[in-house]
Amino acid sequence: MKKGWFILFIPAITMVTPLILLIFIPVMIAGALDEHGGTVNVSDDLYYIELKEVDMQLWNENFKKANALSDYGDYFLEYAELFNIDPIVLVAISMKETNWGVSREVRENNNPGVYSEDNEDLRFETLEEGIKMMALKLGELINDEGLVTINDLGNKYAPIDVEDGSEELNRLWVPDVLEIVEEFGGLTRQYAFSGDLDTIDEMVWVTPYTKRVTSGFRTSSRPNHNGIDIASDGIRGTPVLALTDGVVTISDANGTTFESDASDYRNGRSKGYGWYVEVDHGDGFKTRYAHLIEQGVPVGTEVKAGQIIGYVGSTGASTAPHLHFETIINGNFVDPMGIVGVFLEEE
Ligand SMILES: [Zn+2]
Repeated sequence: MKKGWFILFIPAITMVTPLILLIFIPVMIAGALDEHGGTVNVSDDLYYIELKEVDMQLWNENFKKANALSDYGDYFLEYAELFNIDPIVLVAISMKETNWGVSREVRENNNPGVYSEDNEDLRFETLEEGIKMMALKLGELINDEGLVTINDLGNKYAPIDVEDGSEELNRLWVPDVLEIVEEFGGLTRQYAFSGDLDTIDEMVWVTPYTKRVTSGFRTSSRPNHNGIDIASDGIRGTPVLALTDGVVTISDANGTTFESDASDYRNGRSKGYGWYVEVDHGDGFKTRYAHLIEQGVPVGTEVKAGQIIGYVGSTGASTAPHLHFETIINGNFVDPMGIVGVFLEEE
């Protein structure tokens, strides 16, 4: 398959060690896990949500039929973690490229990503080294270049806009890799870009995970509810975004800061907003974001519309993870639906 893009990378192969060090350090910093959430920043406008753990039973079963790769499952896990990529993506591409560990490249050249320089195949000393190199390169494509879907990666690994006879074969790449992803139990990460967010009139919808509003402003059953609640299954740990440009004026705890459930709420053990952030947008307009999983961005931070200011949690008086969102005009709470209702109408 055509891999012209890899040629740029070839001169670096001869200096593998310094290269790995250069890339390794920023990756380790960017990849620091949010120990509470499961949502992790990769860069300022790219983040991912951890969907689930790798299914180790499927993983081990699939590696049994992986021929030359069959004893190397642990290295795929280790180097996926090191270079901050979804191990399922790494393994699915490798199984596709090597035809489940039987290709000559993997058997003779320890090259599980099947990289080549023009017509000359690359060779690694050990298969472990080949897996590490593949993970490093894939990490660059995903985390630096933002090629976060199998389709994006397919355009690099197996371009179909070429006229060298490989188009038909390359057309199979994406569906084949997706099928292997399913065999391994599905992707473990979902990426999103702030740049792709839902934007109307310089405002961005505040919870990209969902638009499900579960409780309204000052309803008859909750006359003192000064905002709206937004929630759906799995929202815990997902990003909360600034509605529009502004400056953070409060980033603090109000009431309790443990993660409350329905029983805590009923028994009055949990109180207040929990961790919350207030953003001043100027002209008397402020927004508040409550029940965050932990402290949000600090006071004084100048935020842009769509910038991550915290993550959804269930601190304060809360029955389950959700965002409590308030809009304040000249010191008075107003119904947020009058401002963000436009986002819900477009569904
Ligand atoms: Zn609420």
